[in-house]
Amino acid sequence: MIYLDHAATTKVADEVIEAMTPYWKESYGNASALYSFGNRSKRALLEAKENIAKALGVSETEIYITSGGTESNNWALKGIARERREIGKHIITSKIEHHSILHVTQELEAEGFEVSYVETNEKGELDLEQLKNSIRRDTILISIMFANNEIGTLQDVKAIGEIAHQHGILFHTDAVQAFGHEKIQVKEWHIDLLSASAHKFYGPKGVGFLYIRKGLKIRSLLQGGAQEGGKRAGTENIPAIVGMGVAASLAMKELEFSQMRLSTLRDYGLNILEKVEGCVIHGHRKMRLSNHISVSFPGVLGEELVIMLDLKGICISSGAACSMGTGDSSHVLQAMGFSREEAYGAIRITLGRETTKEELDKALSEVVEAVGKLRMMNPAYRGERK
Ligand code: PLP
Repeated sequence: MIYLDHAATTKVADEVIEAMTPYWKESYGNASALYSFGNRSKRALLEAKENIAKALGVSETEIYITSGGTESNNWALKGIARERREIGKHIITSKIEHHSILHVTQELEAEGFEVSYVETNEKGELDLEQLKNSIRRDTILISIMFANNEIGTLQDVKAIGEIAHQHGILFHTDAVQAFGHEKIQVKEWHIDLLSASAHKFYGPKGVGFLYIRKGLKIRSLLQGGAQEGGKRAGTENIPAIVGMGVAASLAMKELEFSQMRLSTLRDYGLNILEKVEGCVIHGHRKMRLSNHISVSFPGVLGEELVIMLDLKGICISSGAACSMGTGDSSHVLQAMGFSREEAYGAIRITLGRETTKEELDKALSEVVEAVGKLRMMNPAYRGERK
């Protein structure tokens, strides 16, 4: 098998599994227990938070464990909106956010909040002028993703943070695709809240974190025990948290090398695909995740291409993993100005730490061959070419 869907999820690193195992088999105590056996788990929890905090240049007391990116995004938006509803009821986000933001803003709208959805250009870059013009006296939060999962475009997070803070507005960024892959300077870039998810950076699934700037008041999503300083109840999943901490350390150690290696491989892949007749590259050519390729081929449906490649043992995706099977075409590409039909054509190829040039070569030659076959089978496309 050739796995090229690292934006959907990553394989847990061997070092991570090794670090997690003792916390299932031996040190399984409850981190809240008073005896020293429980204390071992508590120490492991703190160490994991220290590793994550170091990667962001923040304090470990500002890291709150969650069940992943979805919970972190839900918590950031609902927690801040409900805490600040007396101050203001206006939130700004973008049209290309992940559904764990957009479905939450819909719910907040039903609760009486008002939301502005800022547009992007055809490369997926946020319109900063429109962002500034959307700001109102009652704006309480700006939430803009760091990197888009479907098209890979990176936002100018520093500029967005500056705009937010110049107006005294809190800034949240969904960094689920970026943490562990991109350098993030939380303090310098005026980030107040940041979401991340371990399974996107070679950690286990079902665990993530929310960075919450010290002193920031936020309502809890989960009520119960006093875990996470009383902000997020529930017995901690220590093995998973330990794994996330080790994965964060590993990612930081490999960051520069991995970015260099993967962006070279990515550009090599883009150059090959670009030569296919009609190929459209989605997202920004340079300001994009180093492992991310998103393209479409007129006359070809993304899902058909994914299935044909699956028959050859190659895993790629036709957009966001979480939209699969819904029958919807990408809201991201449509927001960028592509038609529904064009959006149905997109495929996403995302590289990982174990991806080799040989694997990419093999996968791309299969893509090119499949595009040719699918176009031959599409009478509308053949008609157009005559
Ligand atoms: N935000 C972005 C940008 C994502 O890509 C994803 C998952 O694909 C999420 C949030 C949700 O994260 P999780 O799968 O950990 O709930």
